[in-house]
Formats: sequence, structure tokens, C-alpha cells
Amino acid sequence: MAENFKDQIGTMTPKLLPKVKYTIAVASGKGGVGKSTVSVNLALALSKLGFKVGLLDADIYGPSIPLMMGVEGKPQIYQESGSNKMLPLENYGIKLMSIGFLIDDNNPVIWRGPMASGALKQFMSDVEWGELDYLIYDLPPGTGDIQLTLVQTIPLSGAIIVTTPQEVSLIDAKKGLKMFEKVNVNVYGIVENMSYFIAPDTGNRYDIFGSGGGENLAKELNTKFLGGIPIDPRIREGGDNGKPIVYEMPETQESKIIIGIAEKLNETLSANNSTENDIEIEL
Ligand code: ADP
Repeated sequence: MAENFKDQIGTMTPKLLPKVKYTIAVASGKGGVGKSTVSVNLALALSKLGFKVGLLDADIYGPSIPLMMGVEGKPQIYQESGSNKMLPLENYGIKLMSIGFLIDDNNPVIWRGPMASGALKQFMSDVEWGELDYLIYDLPPGTGDIQLTLVQTIPLSGAIIVTTPQEVSLIDAKKGLKMFEKVNVNVYGIVENMSYFIAPDTGNRYDIFGSGGGENLAKELNTKFLGGIPIDPRIREGGDNGKPIVYEMPETQESKIIIGIAEKLNETLSANNSTENDIEIEL
């Protein structure tokens, strides 16, 4: 029944990852807007909601998931039916695979589209992810040929786009949405990062990069506004120290916002596919 349903609506994970329920790409038109930070904390937020989550770092230009998730090392390789398989690394309950685990930091790789998509394909066919509710892909920033090749390579239930509120970032976010449209991938919504700053001493709010950009963009592009995450030094420190805020400080306002984004995303997916949603949510 579930299999038939998947085929009918055509948005669920095809056979490459048969044990993964939803695959979500986290994309951004520009680098430095917090795409990896959102990927990591969103994965942890979904895990907090009771889902089994994997995170695949496909950011070939700057794989930052190992650092942000506080994980080092090489994946274990084993043989199965004569072929090599890899076990994902794991931390904070999230299964992880990153190009950063496999390449040498001192010898940067010059990636071309087919090479990048070949590596990603292996991350799907040769990595034993096990049963997952969500597999989150942290894509490389931008909307060029490489990104286009990648989104055509990976089975996607849908994508979300991370932007900051200012015009230069919004323009590129729009390009991101168009890219997904071109390859018929649903964009489930926009996450605005660095939306505002609350001064810890006065409690005053400062809209450093302007305000309302992400929300207006979502309206214009007919997609959901999933939420706005403030600028907070603890978010940056959590990334640098490998202790993401949603894991380390779940009670903060910032973490609650990110957990709210995860809830909204899950609601959207469930609404698209209500008979598949048989998971008990534990808070
Ligand atoms: P991208 O993946 O888009 O290149 P990153 O997630 O690597 O961006 O974020 C870039 C930098 O900004 C990192 O140092 C990260 O810790 C920091 N950062 C991201 N989001 C926030 C935020 N909401 N508040 C404070 N710092 C942030």
C-alpha cells in the first residue's frame, strides 16, 4: 500500500534509498547564509520530535558538517555480497556522512559535476543508512551546473531554501527555487536566517539585514515561510564547537524557533502524504 502510494504521488523516495521515508535538500542561492547551520539544527530538531534522522553533507566546496556535529574519523568499510559498504558515523543520535570524512583537507579536490554526483550516488547506494524518517542533504551553495546535476542525482521528497533577509540574498534564493522547479522538485518553504538580533542587555530587537524579506519572498513564490532564526552568538559558537544549539541548549528561544520550523516542515510533508504519517511524535 505504502509503495503504491509513493508511486502515485511521485514525491517520495524512490528505490535508491528504500528504507528512507523523506529526503529533504537544504539549499541556498548564496554561501554564508547559514545553510549548514540550519541543516544541522533542523536535523537535531527533527530528531527531538522523535524521528530517525540522517544528515548527508553534500557541500563539496566546504563540507562543514563534521566540524558542526563534532565528529571526526573515517567511516567504517565492510564487505557485503562482494561489494564495499560504508557505515555512517553518528553523533547526537544523527547518522552522518560527509565528503569531508573522505577527502584530505590539505589536498583540495577540484570537483566537476559528474564527479560530485558520482560521489553522492555512492553515499546513497553504498552507505548503510538503515531505516530513517528523514535524510537531510546539505547542498553546496548556489544554483550552477553542479547544484543542478546534484539535485537531479539525488532522490528528493522536496527542498527548503535558506536565505538572509537582505535583497542580495533574496535574489539568489529566488534562483534556487527556479532551479528546483526546473527539475520538478517541490520547495516546501523558505527559512530566513539571521532575521534579527536581540541585544542581550536591553532586549531591544535590531533588524540588521532588514525585515520581512523571507516572508515576502515566500508569498511571491507561492511557498511557505517556515520561520525566521535570529542572529545569536550561541548559534555560531555551537557550530564552531561541534555542539549545535538545538542539542546543547534546547530550551533557548532560538532552539524553539528551529524546532517550530521542523514541526512545520513535517506537517507540510504529512499533509502531502497523510497516510504515510504513522509516526508517534514524542516531545
Ligand atoms: P553556509 O552553509 O550558508 O555557508 P554556515 O552555516 O556555514 O553558512 O554559516 C556561516 C557562519 O555564520 C558560521 O560561522 C555560522 O556559525 C554562522 N551563523 C549561521 N547562522 C547564524 C545565526 N543565526 N546566528 C549567529 N551565527 C550564525
